[in-house]
Amino acid sequence: MNLVRPIVRYAFRFLQLTICAIILAVSSNAYAQAPSAQSGASYTVALTSPEQHLVEVQIILPAGAAQRELQLPVWNALYQVRDFAQYINWVRAKDRSGKPLAVRELDKSRWQIQGAVTGAIVEYQIYVDSPGPFGAQFNPHHAFLNLAQILMYPVDARSAPLTVRFAQIPDDWHIATPLTRSEGGEFSAANYDRLVDSPVEIGNFEESDFDEAGAHFRVIVDADPTDYDMAKLVAALHKITAAATSWMNDRPFDTYMFLYHFPRGPAGGGMEHACATAIDLNADVLKQSLYPFTSVTSHEFFHLWNVKRIRPQTLEPIDYTKENYTRALWFSEGVTSTAEGIIQLRAGLIDEKQYLTGLGEGITELERRPAHLTQSAEESSLDAWLESNGYYRRPERSISYYNKGELLGVMLDLAVRDASHGAASLREVLEWMNANYAKQGRFFNDSEGVREAAEAVTHADLSSFFTKYVAGTEEIPWNDFFRSVGLRVDALAKTVPDAGFIASRNFDGPMSVAAVTSGSDAEHAGLQVGDTIVEMQGKPVGQESRQELARLNPGDTLTVKVRSRRGNERELKWKIGSRQEISYVIKDLDQVTAEQRARRAAWLKGEAQPAAKRTGVE
Ligand SMILES: [Zn+2]
Repeated sequence: MNLVRPIVRYAFRFLQLTICAIILAVSSNAYAQAPSAQSGASYTVALTSPEQHLVEVQIILPAGAAQRELQLPVWNALYQVRDFAQYINWVRAKDRSGKPLAVRELDKSRWQIQGAVTGAIVEYQIYVDSPGPFGAQFNPHHAFLNLAQILMYPVDARSAPLTVRFAQIPDDWHIATPLTRSEGGEFSAANYDRLVDSPVEIGNFEESDFDEAGAHFRVIVDADPTDYDMAKLVAALHKITAAATSWMNDRPFDTYMFLYHFPRGPAGGGMEHACATAIDLNADVLKQSLYPFTSVTSHEFFHLWNVKRIRPQTLEPIDYTKENYTRALWFSEGVTSTAEGIIQLRAGLIDEKQYLTGLGEGITELERRPAHLTQSAEESSLDAWLESNGYYRRPERSISYYNKGELLGVMLDLAVRDASHGAASLREVLEWMNANYAKQGRFFNDSEGVREAAEAVTHADLSSFFTKYVAGTEEIPWNDFFRSVGLRVDALAKTVPDAGFIASRNFDGPMSVAAVTSGSDAEHAGLQVGDTIVEMQGKPVGQESRQELARLNPGDTLTVKVRSRRGNERELKWKIGSRQEISYVIKDLDQVTAEQRARRAAWLKGEAQPAAKRTGVE
């Protein structure tokens, strides 16, 4: 998932580079289908060696075909091929009597077992050390597991019920997972897809729980006790779960688990599951404000509808062997961010001013990326699989489906209100999709399916909205949308210093020139892409060079020593230039009518307008 998502917008803009969130998850048609009667595998996951991050997995396959295939997913949690098979040290198999069976590797992630008529026992060792909610990590502190990253599935029995047992657990560690536990201590799932949609935390964590909206919620926190206040977190979770379930008029689960890690190092991100979420947030960030906590939690919680149950057809059934292309991430992720804002407004966690400031920042982010005129929201969704590549993330190459999708959710909300004269809103669109897809066990047809829902609740033709702004790259006429709620978008220009080049630098590595602005003084001075800057203003390039550069004003002279790709060094000098930077802010229209005020009040609650208000009769 790594297009970095700014979850922390209103107060914590600086976090943008470290926080991401994403995405998909593995779930499946499982919600719609009865479990297969076929009997499946039983897994034992042994936590063998915490210092070496080694886990040993045993899979007992029931009697069946002589020849079986086992597949380890190549992707999970993030829309990125991560090839988890790279971490498997060895694989072996034996029959029930202990006689070795032949194991043949078919491709980098698939193995074939021979002679398994009476069943087979397959064993492998895997290195497990990727931190965060999209990973699987085992160390002396704890184990956090996204099971798709460590468990192979039998290709002929992915839909069969199965069990998993965790072994060699230190005496003082506990297990938290949304999976159902049997009396024998093992966990069961209706099929592999459900199994791997259940995160597992094993360690010493603090647990709390609460009831809201008729459901039971567990809260698991693995962090230093001095870094958080459980009562405060639970109070916020009450508000979020009440606001979201009342907004959707639905609660499609009986129990739900919130799992948090608050590391002191780099952290950030949340991963949704059907009946749980796993969220990492930096401890210092949490201490400064509850906003990052409530925004990422609102987002991941809303995913239990949008993407987990209201699910695009293009993600079903999941293909664990390669990229799964969908045009719908602008909706499944972006509109989840729209809902995140509405949930926080309804919960009283943010006010109108903070909300509109955040929207203005979102517009600024989109408008500043030249690619908003060349890459559509649907194309950005398809290209999610490129996000781990640095070039792809450049502003002239890509937009974020989180960013544009969130704004499209807001514009769609306003468009639906316009088309229905206030009788419907985004809430009705989502409720319609919940009733007509999720509850019927159906998947929606990407953007077409969203249009179908929006047209059903408005009885209007919304095709031009989808053609221009979802499938197309036309500029969004913000003021046309915001007028109905008495708002407009103002562009503010500011002059900022511009050194004429973009440098990239990783940690303590060299500062290398990634781009030189054409026609700039830097270009005239001879700076070239690929040059390494070794000295700046007479000092060796180090941690503070970037801040030093940022302190220079237009007209100041910059002196650098650079090394070319061929290794020759030269000194260059040029004057810092300037450029205009545009920011967008959302403001009241000069005259706001009573009708616009009423529409705005309903919009900020995420609700349609009562009939009496629509006709102007109080
Ligand atoms: Zn998300």
